[in-house]
Amino acid sequence: MNPLSLYIHIPFCKQKCNYCDFASYAGKENLIEEYINTVINEIKHLRPTALSTVYIGGGTPSLIAPKYYEKIFKLLSIAPGAELSLEANPGTINQSYLKELKNIGVNRLSLGAQSFNDKHLEILGRIHNAKDIFKSFDDAQAAGFENINLDLIFALPNQTHNDWKEDLKQALSLKPQHLSIYNLQVEEGTKFYNIGDKLPRPTEDEEVAMFEYAIDTLKTAGFHHYEISNFAQPGFECKHNVVYWENGNYLGVGASASSHINGNRFDNPKTIEEYIKLTQLQNKVDLLGHKNQPDQKETIFMGLRLLDGLSKEKFKGYEKEVKELIDDGLLEQKDKIKLTHRGLLLANEVFKLFI
Ligand code: SF4
Repeated sequence: MNPLSLYIHIPFCKQKCNYCDFASYAGKENLIEEYINTVINEIKHLRPTALSTVYIGGGTPSLIAPKYYEKIFKLLSIAPGAELSLEANPGTINQSYLKELKNIGVNRLSLGAQSFNDKHLEILGRIHNAKDIFKSFDDAQAAGFENINLDLIFALPNQTHNDWKEDLKQALSLKPQHLSIYNLQVEEGTKFYNIGDKLPRPTEDEEVAMFEYAIDTLKTAGFHHYEISNFAQPGFECKHNVVYWENGNYLGVGASASSHINGNRFDNPKTIEEYIKLTQLQNKVDLLGHKNQPDQKETIFMGLRLLDGLSKEKFKGYEKEVKELIDDGLLEQKDKIKLTHRGLLLANEVFKLFI
């Protein structure tokens, strides 16, 4: 099990955003204590060692008091130089909170900025405004964070190309080390989904133009485009997420968290209540202890997200699909097989063949 990554899911949020289909729940703060105790219990049971990355995601991990993270970190065996990330929601943090996190050992902060336009933040149902993002970023730097990611979403309802340009300009003005940019996905079960076709979205062409503009702008600003949606200043690529894309070994603890160890997958129950009742820990340990070949489709599907691509051997049995995609200008083969620029913009078309 070496090296190993650990994901910890914190499913609590102040309110549910209008586009969110993650395992996150508002109004359940009364369950925090019991939930963290279950997380602690799960970690004790799994006993992960030599962790090279730990990622605390959500939900809104910054809703939880640092004392809980301190308890969790004390249990972990963390390798020297490990990347320890935490997702924070602007508007839920201040400098003293961030200092406590830094003292516990968190060394990478991911801020869910999403947009710098207050009108769009309100449409998304976020609890923060643009001013909160600037304040949180300043607080994080003052607390000593030198590795900060900003998440942005584009193709928002009523968003123009100029609005998106402005969002990127504001984000770059903060000089973050990392940027994740995602196009808005309207998922079933969300408020946006219920609005249906009446939701005023940019057209597909406008969406592609926004993505291309972001790629050009961020490259010009010195960012390394290393995964479809992820850009980093050299050396600041997110090590934890690269483990997912390389279909590597990771343990997930908490509600809805997935684990992938030695080719085996295990998904925890999705809701907080089901998770707290967790009785299948021994099954999880047993299953993850078996050795299996990693799923080939999954390795291709995830690995193609990385702009470096994958070696030819990984595509054994899929030569026909690869040829078809090369002929269509969506894949290219040099030392490795990877997405072309067109393939990047139409990645879902490529992935369909490997699902
Ligand atoms: S803060 Fe994040 S996890 Fe929570 S509801 Fe909003 S999008 Fe979902």
